[in-house]
Amino acid sequence: MSDIQIRDKEYIAGTYARFPVEIVSGKGSEVYDTEGKRYIDMGSGIGVTAFGISDNEWVAAVTSQLSRVQHMSNLYYTEPCGKLAEMLCTRTGMSKVFFGNSGAEANECAIKVARKYAAEKKGNDYFTIITLENGFHGRTLTTLAATGQEHYHELFQPLTPGFIHTPANDFDAFLKLAKENKVAGIMIECIQGEGGVNVLEPDFVKGVAAYAKENDIVLVVDEVQTGNGRTGELYAYMHYGISPDVVTTAKGIGGGLPLGAAILSEKVQNVLGFGDHGSTFGGNPVACAGGVSIIERIDEKLLADIKAKSEYIFSAFDGAKGVKSVSGLGLMVGIETEAAASDVVKKCIERGVLCLTAKHKVRLLPALNIPMDVLKEAVEIIKSVAAELSNS
Ligand SMILES: *Cc1c(COP(=O)(O)O)cnc(C)c1O
Repeated sequence: MSDIQIRDKEYIAGTYARFPVEIVSGKGSEVYDTEGKRYIDMGSGIGVTAFGISDNEWVAAVTSQLSRVQHMSNLYYTEPCGKLAEMLCTRTGMSKVFFGNSGAEANECAIKVARKYAAEKKGNDYFTIITLENGFHGRTLTTLAATGQEHYHELFQPLTPGFIHTPANDFDAFLKLAKENKVAGIMIECIQGEGGVNVLEPDFVKGVAAYAKENDIVLVVDEVQTGNGRTGELYAYMHYGISPDVVTTAKGIGGGLPLGAAILSEKVQNVLGFGDHGSTFGGNPVACAGGVSIIERIDEKLLADIKAKSEYIFSAFDGAKGVKSVSGLGLMVGIETEAAASDVVKKCIERGVLCLTAKHKVRLLPALNIPMDVLKEAVEIIKSVAAELSNS
């Protein structure tokens, strides 16, 4: 084992099962390890490096801000966070933004907004938040409570109370739960990412959104993974024709620096007032300058490219040997393979392709601008591994 791995095992808390890959540099969708071996990056640091590794435009935006002022706290004004917030509001038709540093924090903010809105409008006993089974909303104790997967909860009790879960795509079950409880908010992912790249059914999403509107319940769409162009629209809710009250995002908007946002609709824009919420690093000018450069580039042409690349990926894997099914939207793809997903991922690493898993699927979240030839090379390798490891 190398020094890097030995030191890591000795000094880093053991929360991550890392692959034995030591990345030292990269450009775009290609990265290199300590031995100079090349890998195609089909995971983008879990959907974070939206335009790939060390992307020129993003690096320029970040370093130019870095050399002027890197942090001033939220006691003073700096330009980038306002610029990024304006872009997000213009592009979504929403009204205000709260910036934090991660997906979990963006969701924490959304939950506080939902609870305060309901407390003021309906009373303190309206605090329940409905989320979906098999969802994922973060690792803090509150966002874990929101995460409808029991195995994350077991040894961390008591979690923040007031969260209940209902199965995705079962509107009757949702309705029953919603009527039985004093509900402040509903939080959903339109595509469950960590849960296995499950695209929610349009009728279910529209039904939930309509119920939230009729009953003045705050609808939060968690776009931490699906947001910022990933699915072929700026935000995945846009595929469904709904208008959420809060859109949370992180991952790709930061491009690699920690940045999360809770985007607030007109209805809830003033729920949080002075002192209600805050974050020392939130709205950091360097992260936001990078975010501006990323959101700026997610235009109609890029979204069309994403959709075209998505079609290519789906047609390549549909019916391929060793592939049982393909799910997802845009450049967020889940591939159910006959072989165990973890075996496929390991073999792909040997062949120079980095992929993710999501439950029992191989998950692909390549950079939004992955060149077509690099994408094809990666897809061919993944296909050949899936075929080789299949039992037929
Ligand atoms: C990754 C993720 C989160 C958590 O984001 P962090 O930045 O790790 O806190 C929350 N929700 C969804 C849908 C995610 O994919």
